[in-house]
Amino acid sequence: MTTDTSDSWYRGRFAPSPTGPLHIGSLYTAVASFIDAKAHNGQWLLRIDDLDPLRCKSEHASQILKTLEQYALYWDEDVFYQQTRYPAYQYALDDLRDQSFVYPCRCSRKELEKRHINKGVYDAYCFKHPPSSKQASAVRIKLLSDSISFNDQVQGRITQSLKSDVGDFIIYRKDKVASYHLAVALDDAEQRITHIVRGHDLLDSTARQIYLQQQLHLSQPNYAHIPVLSDINGDKLSKRTGAEDVALLGVNHTLIKVLGYLNFQPPAELVTYTGSEILDWAINHWSMANIKPRATLTIPNH
Ligand SMILES: [Zn+2]
Repeated sequence: MTTDTSDSWYRGRFAPSPTGPLHIGSLYTAVASFIDAKAHNGQWLLRIDDLDPLRCKSEHASQILKTLEQYALYWDEDVFYQQTRYPAYQYALDDLRDQSFVYPCRCSRKELEKRHINKGVYDAYCFKHPPSSKQASAVRIKLLSDSISFNDQVQGRITQSLKSDVGDFIIYRKDKVASYHLAVALDDAEQRITHIVRGHDLLDSTARQIYLQQQLHLSQPNYAHIPVLSDINGDKLSKRTGAEDVALLGVNHTLIKVLGYLNFQPPAELVTYTGSEILDWAINHWSMANIKPRATLTIPNH
């Protein structure tokens, strides 16, 4: 197999957070993005989203790498770690600040609750009443345009009004950690990602990431948001809902189960193949058009 990485037009990625072992919900997303990349003769890159030093652990990161290899999900290029990117995030923040696109915000959760905007649209209070520069502040980005539209390969045409849905949003936290949206926008650009296949739970954050791409003059990848696996209560499968560590499960049966969630109809003999051969079969039979445009896929017994 050739490994020319210089001029592949398709560059996909899988970006797990190392907050625990890989469970079936994340394996399913990994398999979907891997198969889509390989069906397009593309590269599949791995990024460890270890932005938050309090929630992420390096032992989980190395465990996730091992599990991906166990499932024959081999990535191209070196693993990319967000923890190495703090200077780049700071550089982007300074750039936005120079362009006066951002302002400090010192509203506490309590104050936001008092103004009934803890979950709703930020009221730009700190833009109208700038806090003194001495105290630690979060940083918000000013919304200069209102609605963001994009074509999602699974969910269709998506339009979100940032002004009426989120308001000026936080791009840097008070503890000087870049927000998830800023980090993802910058990292996707740095890794030259062209195609993002991820769970529907992140659909809501896409408009914010596109807005940041626009302000930072970054190119916009193609998006495909696949349904999120959920239990019968409608809760996303996660460590919290008791989803098992897939490293402890049989590779073949688990991969075939995941292919079923992706609407494949694998032949019975596939179970006798190796993990790598099962994935090859899937790559040859893959079509994103088989994925239904819905938010969740209920898995009764995971
Ligand atoms: Zn504020």
